[in-house]
Amino acid sequence: MSTRTLNLDDTLYRYLLDASLREHPALAELREFNRTHPQASMQIAPEQGQFMALLVRLIGARRTIEVGVFTGYSALATALALPPDGCLIGCDVSREFTDVARGFWEKAGVAHKIDLRIAPAADTLDDLIANGEAGRFDFAFIDADKGGYDVYYERCLALLRTGGLIAVDNVLWGGAVARPAQDADTAALQAFNRKLHADERVDLSLVPIADGLMLARKR
Ligand code: CA
Repeated sequence: MSTRTLNLDDTLYRYLLDASLREHPALAELREFNRTHPQASMQIAPEQGQFMALLVRLIGARRTIEVGVFTGYSALATALALPPDGCLIGCDVSREFTDVARGFWEKAGVAHKIDLRIAPAADTLDDLIANGEAGRFDFAFIDADKGGYDVYYERCLALLRTGGLIAVDNVLWGGAVARPAQDADTAALQAFNRKLHADERVDLSLVPIADGLMLARKR
């Protein structure tokens, strides 16, 4: 028994997946496709996708935002968990990556739920706010350039309803956040984590799943 979070060695991690992973065939296929991709580490872990899908269902999310789509694994996991009339606004700057994503979304029959905006995410989020969408979203997932996290978080917080949830990826950054920062991304994540720890606007939990997932529920 342990009173702290376990370190998962390969054997225990394999057990966790064997014992609990329920992966849609399109998600499994996309993960296999990403395995050989040069930026494969930008895809979230499968158990994290399943966890986020559970969160989406738990809060009854219908309208969601994703900042940083890459080849679409997390958006696919989210879209599969949304009701038939649900929608996800996906923000990314890469048409190359999101073209791959769209193929898998179509294959899984959820492409109609995903509204992809190819533009700097801050611009897309500002447009939504300017168009009166503040307070009208249930869930947001932030997984993009770490220097932009604070801007994305503030915009997403404005766009969320009370009780809505923001999930922020990579907040443990391979463990680097616990050591003096050697680069701008680590420093940005440290500052971001510090800010959220003190942010009275949200309820907070840092979940040590995959590379660290910060959950912030809007009060
Ligand atoms: Ca990530």
